[in-house]
Amino acid sequence: MNKRSITVIPGDGIGPSIVDAALKIMDHAGCNFHYDYADAGLMALEKHSELLPQSTLDLIEKNKITLKGPLTTPIGGGFTSINVSLRKHFNLYANLRPVVSFEGAQSRYKDIDIITVRENTQGMYSGAGQTRSDDNTHAEAMSIITREGAERITEFAYKLARTEGRKKVTIVHKANILKSTSGLFLDVAREVAQRYPDIETNEMIVDAVCMNLVMYPERFDIIVTTNLFGDIISDLCAGLIGGLGMAPGANIGQDVAIFEAVHGSAPDIEGQNIANPCSVILASIQMLEHLEMQDKAQQIRNAVRKTIAEGKSVTRDLGGTATTTEFTQAIIANL
Ligand code: NAD
Repeated sequence: MNKRSITVIPGDGIGPSIVDAALKIMDHAGCNFHYDYADAGLMALEKHSELLPQSTLDLIEKNKITLKGPLTTPIGGGFTSINVSLRKHFNLYANLRPVVSFEGAQSRYKDIDIITVRENTQGMYSGAGQTRSDDNTHAEAMSIITREGAERITEFAYKLARTEGRKKVTIVHKANILKSTSGLFLDVAREVAQRYPDIETNEMIVDAVCMNLVMYPERFDIIVTTNLFGDIISDLCAGLIGGLGMAPGANIGQDVAIFEAVHGSAPDIEGQNIANPCSVILASIQMLEHLEMQDKAQQIRNAVRKTIAEGKSVTRDLGGTATTTEFTQAIIANL
């Protein structure tokens, strides 16, 4: 039987070690993939003198499905974020960031189960109108919201609610102040909500969301919002379940999808073999679900759950002392 090809971008910093962990686990679970490796980020800059080589874009396009480690974007020097470039290039308009509590993980809350659906190509991250005066006294950036973009992402969120059997969508905005951009987003989201009378709709201003997420996280189910708010809120949500090491993200477009960790390349712990690989392992589970390989996804999720609940071989962010390698081996043993 022909193996399905997946593009793999190991990434920078802790990326290669945690991506390797996810691949080993999928292999042991019998997922039967062929991996096409591609460079991006600092590794690509060294090898190809550019952060995002055309050969990498071609492989992503060819295989349609990519598992990606975090990438370092050098600060200054006119470099655009590689992640933003990828999302725009492939029009990966939906960023799906689920957070779920794991028994045994060190966190302030139990029973968290929230999905943030973040618009991924527009808003403050559209990159338009970025200027800074030569004398460093004035800077500007433009936020862009279109009806099409707002409709597409809210439709995505409501459809997800139906397919996942979820009850409520919270539309997050700041339309009281950002009357044009957030105002249009809210108006369009309200129109979409009317097409889904079976799903409860809630509207909330982004600052109130932050407070409510910390005080009453159980009130949230699916959150749908614009790019910048979604970026911030999803990190807040990661904090509810024990940190960035447990937070995966899927970037979904019309026919290309990229699965990754929410966090960055963590240069502060690079090379120490102590990174929590779960972010990319959970991203690989999202990828398997996207490929309708639900049984493999469930098998890996159960092994991760069991390993964290046992608590013997988990990394220090989860309250243990295990290395990345030991944690990965324990998950494999529990498959
Ligand atoms: P970061 O997310 O890399 O790290 C923040 C903190 O979380 C650090 O203390 C780090 O040690 C910890 N952490 C992150 N992942 C962890 C894991 N798996 N296990 C244990 N601890 C973990 O944020 P940063 O330091 O601000 O960014 C570093 C670089 O990553 C920057 O160049 C930034 O541009 C890039 N970045 C990339 C992505 C991406 O590729 N999707 C996302 C965010 C940041």
